[in-house]
Amino acid sequence: MSQVALVYSPRFNDYDLGPSHPMRPARVVRTYELIRACGLLEGSEASLLRPSPAGEERLALAHSQEYIEAVRAPSEGRAMRNPLKFGLGTVDNPIVDGLYEATAIVVGASLRATDAVVDGEASVAFNPSGGLHHGHRAKAAGFCVFNDAAVAILHLLERCGEGVKVAYVDIDAHHGDGVQEAFWERRDVLTISVHESGRYLFPGTGRVDEIGEGEGEGYAVNLPLSPYTNDEVYAWAFREAVVPLVEAFEPDFVFTQLGVDTHYQDPLTHMCLTTRGYMQVVEALAGVAERWIAVGGGGYDVGVVPRAWTLAFARMSGREAPEHVPKSEAKQYGGNDEPVPMHDAEGPTIDEDWARVAREFAEESVAGVRERVFPVHGLSAETG
Ligand SMILES: [Zn+2]
Repeated sequence: MSQVALVYSPRFNDYDLGPSHPMRPARVVRTYELIRACGLLEGSEASLLRPSPAGEERLALAHSQEYIEAVRAPSEGRAMRNPLKFGLGTVDNPIVDGLYEATAIVVGASLRATDAVVDGEASVAFNPSGGLHHGHRAKAAGFCVFNDAAVAILHLLERCGEGVKVAYVDIDAHHGDGVQEAFWERRDVLTISVHESGRYLFPGTGRVDEIGEGEGEGYAVNLPLSPYTNDEVYAWAFREAVVPLVEAFEPDFVFTQLGVDTHYQDPLTHMCLTTRGYMQVVEALAGVAERWIAVGGGGYDVGVVPRAWTLAFARMSGREAPEHVPKSEAKQYGGNDEPVPMHDAEGPTIDEDWARVAREFAEESVAGVRERVFPVHGLSAETG
């Protein structure tokens, strides 16, 4: 069994929402190129898997028939009727040629990653094109059309049958609202989202008191953080609120959305992580995930995302990433003669008042999660 699998297709390049749209397919293409250039696909412990597009009946696990048909209409030469009803034809979610195919291959790739782990082909599989966590049952939002994570988890549950448990952990800077919704009333899927507070950032949801309903009460978890949250505060909050929950839940599979728009250079958010803080979190995830399906997500600085995801993939492989970006790729990361480190060479400068606000905000959110959710899982709300 190979330990780690990367799912990749040149067709990921087709998820292109236009030249001025921040969701550049280069984020994913360059991640693949950097992973390969770092030698992380060599050796018998690593494999490269090719996805095929998700079929309509897989998409229907998480989406309404009416919505699937609406997204597909332009590909069949029909006009989409009432696109705004489906969240399409907006600045964030424009209708582009081949949209259905481009998003169906992303979902297919998350299905491929999931099957690889379920079938024991690999213990960890990574689909960097995935993580379209804002996709709703019948509505596109936040650059996401079909929700690959929701579809893949529902597929996993269908394949593995009763009693199987999945922990979904979402470290994107934005709230994982679409995935939360899909499992809102279920207790076999624990959804945890750590994100910049909805007070400051799209989609506005993800408050600590959103904890699921009915059967699922206590199985949706939200840890909102403040703008300017740094490595230290983020990693602390993650250790205090997320790790114990995943451990207590004892999942059969861990499914992670590894968005890296928490980075201090990210143009769309206000979080202040570096690749080192990001990797502390990936390290913590590796510690709780035995059978692990990972998808990408947000992250809009093309000089940052491939480095962060390559570092994450190296950790999934149990290997060291090289210290520097290989020469063949260095130019893309601002290197001319000087070698470019894989990790950030610099970090953010944060105003002291904001640093204090961010710390207090995190303390309050951690306490809120521990109070509301920990007892459901037999854990003590007290810290320390
Ligand atoms: Zn995001």
